[in-house]
Amino acid sequence: MKKGSLIVVSGPSGAGKGTVCDAFLGAHGEIAYSISATTRAPREGEQDGVNYYFLSRAEFERMIDNGELLEWAEVYGNYYGTPLKKIEERLARGEDILLEIDTQGALNVQKKFPDGVYVFILPPSFDELEKRLRGRGTDSEAVVARRLAAAAGEIAAAKQYAYTIVNDKVENAVRTLSAIVAAEHARTRNNLEKIEEMIKGV
Ligand code: ADP
Ligand code: 5GP
Repeated sequence: MKKGSLIVVSGPSGAGKGTVCDAFLGAHGEIAYSISATTRAPREGEQDGVNYYFLSRAEFERMIDNGELLEWAEVYGNYYGTPLKKIEERLARGEDILLEIDTQGALNVQKKFPDGVYVFILPPSFDELEKRLRGRGTDSEAVVARRLAAAAGEIAAAKQYAYTIVNDKVENAVRTLSAIVAAEHARTRNNLEKIEEMIKGV
């Protein structure tokens, strides 16, 4: 059986992570998305169980206490966390899963899954980041200001990721992400069973 890959994508708010991941996953139906739990309110158009599991703080804290989260962090004033079960199930079946999480969460996941594929998405410039965050039109001015203020700190963590993609054009960023994942699949360590099979002449 081929080994499944854990793909972790981070970047400052507004860099285009959601846009790039959606397009990438749309082109790779075989790769699952890890739906996070959060205490933040849904944005217009967001659906419970699709974009996030939208929980109260008490519900979120219950998940922490029950050990149901691979990692969790407080980001921009809300809790966000990654349910563990789906990840374990996918990887056990040799299937891939993509997590879009913040840098605190990603660094914790790195400790547990050092063989994961860690990808940082950068905007082309700070001005463009601001433009995209405001242009998205989903957040209040206070929320936008808070996210911009946190951007430099988030970007400082980029050096701890194996890959960095500058999201100039969505299609270029998606192509690069696809190339990274294809290279990961081609790693010899992920094809050892196939090699053994061939040696045995199966
Ligand atoms: P994130 O998930 O990183 O917070 P989003 O995917 O929500 O960011 O993107 C923020 C805004 O920028 C959205 O309005 C999106 O349409 C836009 N956007 C994303 N990628 C690009 C790009 N390469 N060029 C121009 N606009 C982009
Ligand atoms: P947003 O509110 O824009 O959807 O997400 C805000 C931030 O929370 C982003 O940096 C996003 O990557 C991060 N995030 C989303 N889900 C998780 C999660 O499960 N764990 C962690 N640590 N961060 C998350």
